[in-house]
Amino acid sequence: MQWLRQLFTRDKPQIPEPLWQDCLERLPFLDRLDAGERQRLKLLCEDLLARKTFTGAAGFELTDEVAVLIAAQAALPVLNLTLDLYDDMAGIIVYPSAFVIPQSEMDEAGVVHEWHEPASGEAVHAGGAVVLSWEDAQESNAPGYNVVIHEFAHKLDMARGAANGCPPFLAAFHREIVPAGWRQAFSAAYQDFVRRVDALEARLPEDYDDDRPDDAALYDELFGELPLDPYAARHPAEFFAVASEAFFVLPQPLAEDYPEIYRLLALYYRQDPLR
Ligand SMILES: [Zn+2]
Repeated sequence: MQWLRQLFTRDKPQIPEPLWQDCLERLPFLDRLDAGERQRLKLLCEDLLARKTFTGAAGFELTDEVAVLIAAQAALPVLNLTLDLYDDMAGIIVYPSAFVIPQSEMDEAGVVHEWHEPASGEAVHAGGAVVLSWEDAQESNAPGYNVVIHEFAHKLDMARGAANGCPPFLAAFHREIVPAGWRQAFSAAYQDFVRRVDALEARLPEDYDDDRPDDAALYDELFGELPLDPYAARHPAEFFAVASEAFFVLPQPLAEDYPEIYRLLALYYRQDPLR
């Protein structure tokens, strides 16, 4: 944290070049950026690190390296927008591994069920923090998976209220997006994706257990055909966040299966990762 501490006392904070190069190497999906874009990304990171508090939780020691890696992935979605979109964010909290979130849901009979669910990340609405598990943030086994981009996409979605999969469109950037067209396209793609996930789930054995190697292999084989992590079927807001991860990290399958979603995300983020 030596360098981060210095950062706040300097007028013009700068990420040391070796640290920045190391960060670029560890995030191969940034390779597509040209030199000018990388430079702008670095400036955005420095701005984000200066504006927001990064905190380690549950004994996690937050190093400069971790802070820069998170900042770079948080800045990528707003590279051609504005960092002001994260104004409504208290800070970034990093746990060493999955943390537990209390959940509650009312069923059809009006009974409220409460339980605890382990989470890899959480974006707290109404000015709250982005909370991340560092173990999950480094996960590279699942193609297209990126918990940092996922949670910051939720933050963009929440800029005017609860996340619903339709972030606010800004006059300065999003004139080409027709909100009704966005809602229609995302709703159709979401429903299609839910149907696909349901159909795949029906092919799993009734006593499916992901701790059994055979079952896990079958799951990977079936769900590996999907362009997005099946978690996207959970809610329209999750569909937007998971599609945003894929858009930046593994865009090809998304563009093939849901070209209209890819096109709209390219208009929204004002980036075209497949260009
Ligand atoms: Zn989510």
